[in-house]
Amino acid sequence: MVLDDLGTSLRSSLDTLQGKTRLDEDDVEEIVKEIQRSLLSADVDVSLVMELSDSIETRALEEEPPGGTTARDHVLKIVYEEMVELVGDSTALPLEPQTILLAGLQGSGKTTSAAKMAWWFSTKGLRPAVIQTDTFRPGAYDQAEQMAERAEVDFYGDPDGDDPVEIAREGMEATADADVRIVDTAGRHALEDDLIAEIEEIEREVDPDRSLLVLDAAIGQGAKDQARQFEESIGIDGVVITKLDGTAKGGGALTAVNETGSSIAFLGSGETVQDIERFEPSGFISRLLGMGDLKQLSERVERAMQETQEEDDDWDPEDMLEGSFTLKDMKKQMDAMNRMGPLDQVMDMIPGLGGGMMDQLPDDAMDVTQDRMRKFERIMDSMTDEELENPRVVGQERTRRIARGSGTDEETVRQLLEQHSMMERTIEQFQGMGEGDMQRMMKKMGG
Ligand code: GDP
Repeated sequence: MVLDDLGTSLRSSLDTLQGKTRLDEDDVEEIVKEIQRSLLSADVDVSLVMELSDSIETRALEEEPPGGTTARDHVLKIVYEEMVELVGDSTALPLEPQTILLAGLQGSGKTTSAAKMAWWFSTKGLRPAVIQTDTFRPGAYDQAEQMAERAEVDFYGDPDGDDPVEIAREGMEATADADVRIVDTAGRHALEDDLIAEIEEIEREVDPDRSLLVLDAAIGQGAKDQARQFEESIGIDGVVITKLDGTAKGGGALTAVNETGSSIAFLGSGETVQDIERFEPSGFISRLLGMGDLKQLSERVERAMQETQEEDDDWDPEDMLEGSFTLKDMKKQMDAMNRMGPLDQVMDMIPGLGGGMMDQLPDDAMDVTQDRMRKFERIMDSMTDEELENPRVVGQERTRRIARGSGTDEETVRQLLEQHSMMERTIEQFQGMGEGDMQRMMKKMGG
């Protein structure tokens, strides 16, 4: 995640303020230094770092905390506001019919992001189309077409065309039925005059509502020049940061946001069309500062549950709250968990668990868990329907057979059964609650 390191170090320096009601200069200096150090190591531009830390310092020293606020909350609020300001405090992309132009260097992830964004809009009930105008890179057409197919969205391109502006014009006509049109453009290895000239012409042709700059999260200081040039030629309204699964930096993209006076629009974190999130500034910063992001988490959980359910019409998560909780239910839950993405990302979104707790776990704790999940899955694949429905029939002999059949060991089979009884007991507690209690609890959790 972008600025992961900032979140971690900020939380620990904020913790040193615990119990204090007033801030002195040393406290502020300490925190500001932490912020500078993490931003610089995430590749954020130096002058931007100075600007940000100056304003945090001034505000922390000059502003009077409202009565009853602790020093820690006061600083947290200031850092939060300044960071939201930095990443752009409005959502760059409203949910409405529009034309979006994508710009960026070759390999930044434009084609992938076009399909991802289209998929995202389609999940929100809009009808998106991707228009591919890249005639420069061999294979761009095929790649874009395949990805649009995977995203199940309309697509226009011309594999034999050599005039991007012409393709853009035809594409706009051919996709007249779509609500959201996403126009992908050619990149080059570096900013060249002809690339700029080409994208300016396409921009005039399609007259986009928004132009987004697509940036690889690993880009460092180079982001600034790129952002400035695209800003001058077509005007940039938002930044899409890609490949966040590959780096914890992302500071270059923040520099670009600042340079173009825009905000982050989307975050990409993988190669499939679903690996995208709309950027929600306040949620993102809350997550960063360890305050959790419940909205995102509940969206992900909902989606994962829905997908699991679509695959198996007979299974309804609500049933778990009524009948008995079988190993089959547990398997479905694990499938749903797997779909939510890496466990550590999910845990980061849970307030309380976010940040602080994750930092205390050894680095490989999460891998172990995921590894264990995979073993559990293999074990369940080796069990009969009877055993899955009623795990109590699994005794010593069956344990041995299952361990052999799944290529695991008896200990792991026993762990799975234990995990199941533990979850069963939890579910039974839920079952004991009335519907009103359940709703109250969900509300409390922010749902
Ligand atoms: P373009 O030249 O700007 O259109 O870039 P592409 O969309 O072709 O992406 C370049 C490469 O990066 C491809 O191999 C993509 O699969 C990969 N890619 C794009 N976005 C992501 C991402 O979020 N995560 C990962 N891991 N790979 C990505």
